[in-house]
Amino acid sequence: MRRVYLDHAATTPVDPRVLEAMLPYFRERFGNAGSIHAWGQEARGAIDHAREIVAATIGATPSEIVFTSGATEADNLAILGTALASEGKGHIITTRIEHHAVLEPCRFLESRGFEVTYLPVDRYGLVDPDEVRRAIRPDTILISVMHANNEIGTIEPIEEIGAIAREHGIPFHTDATQTVGILPVHVDALKVDLLSMSAHKRYGPKGVGALYVRQGTPIAPILRGGSQERNRRAGTENVPAIVGFGKAMEIAQEVMAEEAATLTRLRDRFITALLSLGEVTLNGHPTCRLPNNVNVSFKGMDSESILLALDLRGVAASSGSACTSGTLEPSHVLEAIGLPPEIAAGTVRFSMGRATTEEDLDYVVEALSEILELARVR
Ligand SMILES: *Cc1c(COP(=O)(O)O)cnc(C)c1O
Repeated sequence: MRRVYLDHAATTPVDPRVLEAMLPYFRERFGNAGSIHAWGQEARGAIDHAREIVAATIGATPSEIVFTSGATEADNLAILGTALASEGKGHIITTRIEHHAVLEPCRFLESRGFEVTYLPVDRYGLVDPDEVRRAIRPDTILISVMHANNEIGTIEPIEEIGAIAREHGIPFHTDATQTVGILPVHVDALKVDLLSMSAHKRYGPKGVGALYVRQGTPIAPILRGGSQERNRRAGTENVPAIVGFGKAMEIAQEVMAEEAATLTRLRDRFITALLSLGEVTLNGHPTCRLPNNVNVSFKGMDSESILLALDLRGVAASSGSACTSGTLEPSHVLEAIGLPPEIAAGTVRFSMGRATTEEDLDYVVEALSEILELARVR
């Protein structure tokens, strides 16, 4: 049976070249980057090199990169770190479609006296920059809007929002986990002060990522107990993972333009084929969307049964719904774009990757056509 992995928005396989680059740092180059001896200096050098590559990928300077355990920690550091650095209380602006790694720290801060505005989005999942402008208050300490949504793939007008944030002197954070290494991301062009990224969504290892912190942006550490990362994130550096992250970004920079073009072509062909199955609707923006994201709703179906039936046919995809205690609760993102619960219940996300082929996608369309036919005669 053919096996087709279409869940690259959840995670990607480690590129063999990334693994090769990492291995020496598990073996002979095992030093602690904080040590003064040769072993330590070797590790330090490797981290510095990775930091340069990661910085260059987003147009930053190396000192503005804080390595973390991933994008979840980067998001937490951006939001909690900004709150901790602010004097007393304050107001945060974010959106209803953020990743939980942004929403949960915001909710936590609300329970501690901060105020948060969760901006709505339109039916494509787009945030209106004018709404951001209108939400700004004298006590606003942070604006956080994701670069591209991980469920529906919509790419947000970050530059415009960045310009508004800058006009008001408010730090601007974006979660760019789904875009770094797949689309051009430049912190000056986007006008962002804080930017979260992760290695494992781009063929790097899990458990490593970074927060870009523009020079001068006030942020307090959430992990204390060491002077690593210029006192911004304590803890012995995960040298092999950081090296792998650097290598993954180096490869991404080389292949990005061609990869995005290929994926966009595959994506649009796949969308056309899916829509022709009948009673299928596309979620997210038709053109302002990630090259590798296809999110569709199958009318009258439930996503869990589609995913199980696909899994039996060797296909991996993911659902837009989280199954909570037996009841299907629509995801906050599908709710925010106004999808009726019965349509949201039949939503599936397909996310393609470097190895995805036309034949893979034809196979998936064929499998889905079978699955729908079986379900609809019943
Ligand atoms: C995957 C993802 C995260 C979490 O990243 P980890 O590195 O797995 O912690 C955060 N935000 C977005 C948009 C994501 O897609």
